[in-house]
Amino acid sequence: GVVVEQVVRQFGDRVVLDHLDLTIADEELVILLGPSGCGKSTLLRLLAGLDRPDGGRVEVPARRAIVFQADRLLPWQRVLRNVTLGLHGADAEQRARDVLAEVGLAGREKAWPKELSGGEAQRVSLARALVSEPELVLLDEPFAALDAITRLRMHDLVRALRTKHQAAMLLVTHDVDEAIALADRIVVMSNGRIGTSHEVHLTAADREASVAREELR
Ligand code: ATP
Ligand code: MG
Repeated sequence: GVVVEQVVRQFGDRVVLDHLDLTIADEELVILLGPSGCGKSTLLRLLAGLDRPDGGRVEVPARRAIVFQADRLLPWQRVLRNVTLGLHGADAEQRARDVLAEVGLAGREKAWPKELSGGEAQRVSLARALVSEPELVLLDEPFAALDAITRLRMHDLVRALRTKHQAAMLLVTHDVDEAIALADRIVVMSNGRIGTSHEVHLTAADREASVAREELR
């Protein structure tokens, strides 16, 4: 899981994270909502280890992965190589093939990133995130650039992947329907904090109702 305690991050005199607290249980999928510029990406970067807090404590698992809105695939490497990059072990390629199959991209291993649709590219990003069996996956508006139908397919995919990969997830979105469709718990950031008074706990029934509504559309 994740423990964030009294974390402060400021840029100049602008305090973006102001004694922020957040905990995420093992295997919990938490959705983070909040207005543009409130500090969501800043928090994810801290959790990913791409940035350091100015104060407070961040406790994260050693194995973690981050997925961004726009794919950051290496354009000069084929799909398979984009997934195996940084992996070790004789079985790395087979593991990459297996995860690519899980995200629905069996047979596309030799494609170049520029040959992929936006949804396919994000599937590769998910495969790359999951192939190292992370304990924490951070997703920063992963589906925001996709059309509505593709986004719904990605929601199905995330639900399916969760049954196979036991990772905690923190997913940032501006899409409230997406939040309700995916979340175990929704938290809202404002004024540099995540207020416990803003927390909403969702049940499986809530998610199923939301999935049913998505299917009706
Ligand atoms: P959005 O929903 O638009 O993605 P966000 O909640 O992810 O917004 P952040 O990207 O975390 O917001 O930015 C929060 C604030 O911190 C913004 O005012 C931004 O300008 C500022 N900020 C972020 N990174 C830096 C940096 N490296 N240097 C200076 N200011 C920064
Ligand atoms: Mg952001």
